[in-house]
Amino acid sequence: MRLRVLGACGAWPDAGQACSGYLLEHEGFRLVVDLGYATVPQLLRHVTAEQVDAVFISHGHPDHCADLNPLLRARALRDDPPAPLPVYALPGALDAVLALDRPGMLAGAYELREVTDGGAFDVGPFHARTRLLPHSVPNAGVRLAAGGRVLAYTGDSGPSPDVVELARGADVLLAEATHVDEVPEGSRRHLSSARQAGRQAAAAGVGRLLLTHLWPGTDPAAARAAAAEEYDGEVAVAATDLVLDLR
Ligand SMILES: [Zn+2]
Repeated sequence: MRLRVLGACGAWPDAGQACSGYLLEHEGFRLVVDLGYATVPQLLRHVTAEQVDAVFISHGHPDHCADLNPLLRARALRDDPPAPLPVYALPGALDAVLALDRPGMLAGAYELREVTDGGAFDVGPFHARTRLLPHSVPNAGVRLAAGGRVLAYTGDSGPSPDVVELARGADVLLAEATHVDEVPEGSRRHLSSARQAGRQAAAAGVGRLLLTHLWPGTDPAAARAAAAEEYDGEVAVAATDLVLDLR
């Protein structure tokens, strides 16, 4: 399984950067996990729009799903549109982004597949299991297994035993870490710090920790250091074009 980071900014895209988006490839199958602001221009540097085989969206915040619209446009507006794109998401999560264009314009471009808390499904060579994790809107964390390797992704989530359960023994935990040490009071149940991500990576016994969704302007070294105080394994910070081969 190969993970390529398309973007890793929390909240809004920084100069030349994109928000959350990850391209996962295994046995030639291309699964895109989240399509935040500005991820499509990054994605199209590596694959064409019609080469994407499926999409999984963790939740309906635009920094995780806004670029579903340009991806669908790039497929639907061709002279020879490809087959509908399977899009996995929680019920209603994509209503707003799918309503950007006039009714029907993109209708043939996608096939919505609703995911559930605790649900499991196969997408190409990937086996997926989803879990609702605490955020300000419904958010599905996902555990993806392929070729004997496992990647767990939190989407956006406050600290929770469910994160630990979802990530248990994973080779990689890709964890939202909007803040470094302290999450501001109003967001404490819905977002995590790098330190908390490190704590959860240790509790879950994961192989390595990849921090993502840092607030624009955050020092990646500070986030890495905070996580490393809680977790002994390898810690890295996601950035555009970072590639991880899980084998
Ligand atoms: Zn969010």
